[in-house]
Amino acid sequence: MKKRIAIVGGGLVGSLLAIYLVKRGYVVNVFERRHDPRKTDLYAGRSINLALSTRGLKSLEEVGLAAKIRQEAIPMHGRMMHNIKGELSFLPYGKEGQFINSISRASLNVMLINEAENLGAQYTFNHRCTHVDLDKTTLTFQDEDHHITQKQFHQIVGADGAFSAVRGAMQFTDRFDFSQDYIDHGYKELTIPAGHYGSFQLEKNALHIWPRESFMMIALPNPDGSFTCTLFFPFEGKKSFDALKDLSNVEKFFQDQFPDAVKLMPDLLKDFQENPTSSLVTMQCYPWCKNNTLLIGDAAHAIVPFYGQGMNAGFEDCRILNKLLNETHDDWSAAAAKFQTQRKPNADAIAKLALDNFVEMRDLVGDPEFLLRKKIESHLHTLFPTQWIPLYSMVTFNENIAYADAYAIGQKQKKIMDEVMRDPNITTTWQSLPFQQIVDQLNL
Ligand code: FAD
Repeated sequence: MKKRIAIVGGGLVGSLLAIYLVKRGYVVNVFERRHDPRKTDLYAGRSINLALSTRGLKSLEEVGLAAKIRQEAIPMHGRMMHNIKGELSFLPYGKEGQFINSISRASLNVMLINEAENLGAQYTFNHRCTHVDLDKTTLTFQDEDHHITQKQFHQIVGADGAFSAVRGAMQFTDRFDFSQDYIDHGYKELTIPAGHYGSFQLEKNALHIWPRESFMMIALPNPDGSFTCTLFFPFEGKKSFDALKDLSNVEKFFQDQFPDAVKLMPDLLKDFQENPTSSLVTMQCYPWCKNNTLLIGDAAHAIVPFYGQGMNAGFEDCRILNKLLNETHDDWSAAAAKFQTQRKPNADAIAKLALDNFVEMRDLVGDPEFLLRKKIESHLHTLFPTQWIPLYSMVTFNENIAYADAYAIGQKQKKIMDEVMRDPNITTTWQSLPFQQIVDQLNL
């Protein structure tokens, strides 16, 4: 008899996993709390676009979807920084030809659902999982009309996001570790609409950043010529969402802080008032499996968005789980045990990197010393392409380096570069640095 698998959550990770599992020959049922996104506009007010990079693309390639998804994506070759005077400076993400991709969350989700359904996965929308019996591998659902149903499976996968109900059930079991850490900042999405005839009003192929030390705004391009802006801003304090409760302050704040952007935001006040202010959290837990139930994606490891890796890490989870199912000949308990021991250190590493990158994005990218440090590292990478790979490139463009290894190598690089940058004349002398000696210190 074919094994029956239930996936709770038909978001990005649940739907990609459905594709992998249905291709393996399982009977796959996906239960999603929301309505079918093909029939409703579910994403109003949520992060409308995401940065898709190499780890995510690798998984999409394996299931044959990368080419199709690339067609919908806009390449972003680097960060375009906007200073307070509206002056621009560009910092490439990697070597020539390396870029990340802005993709619509909604269209990516729909493409994954369509593919999973075409291959034979069965989706049930408007079904909220309310209870998981981990001993009997049974799920309880409630629909919109409060009808309760119960279903039993051979295996359950919780892909139900940061506030996972499946993880909630595990939290009642013995020796289950769980932590959640909210940061002081929240976020609000705003829009720069397209210009005449769908033209882009800012450089199209870049991720725009307005770094302002304790806060920042970013903007990612959309295929219709618009940009989705996200303001990451403290909840409380002198400069905070709290202080902007009175709308009359909002315009002045934007005029002062983002003068070049505000000119392009005719609906700023309406967007600011109507779009939600959302919080940002890191969720960590362990173990990720109990009996026949396994957590994946944000349900197992939700992180803050500053490395653009949450979805990419979740897509990587799917690829690794599939590989382990190959290696164990579909022995789920062996594969799940290996999955959690392999993935947990990597999830913890990207959680830390994502928090660190917030400081880099909002503060350091405007700092000339930081930009010089990046330039030296990029030169080292050109001279020693396999020995010195900048941390951002290891994380974003190199799926063969695990997040935990990238983190450890990044720590070593930081120590070496701190020493290099201590030279008071570094601005003028950097080109004559002993580059071979610097690389040798890595001891890789
Ligand atoms: P989700 O996308 O949260 O999907 C979970 C699904 O489960 C949802 O459809 C939900 O409705 C459903 N569900 C929840 N509870 C239940 C229940 N009880 N019963 C049934 N269904 C349920 N990542 C990147 O890689 N790049 C980026 O640029 C990026 N930018 C981001 C920007 C912001 C502002 C935020 C907040 C996140 C960003 N992320 C980014 C992270 C990314 O959004 C998540 O990592 C990704 O969505 C995780 O996918 P998931 O399928 O695990 O969870």
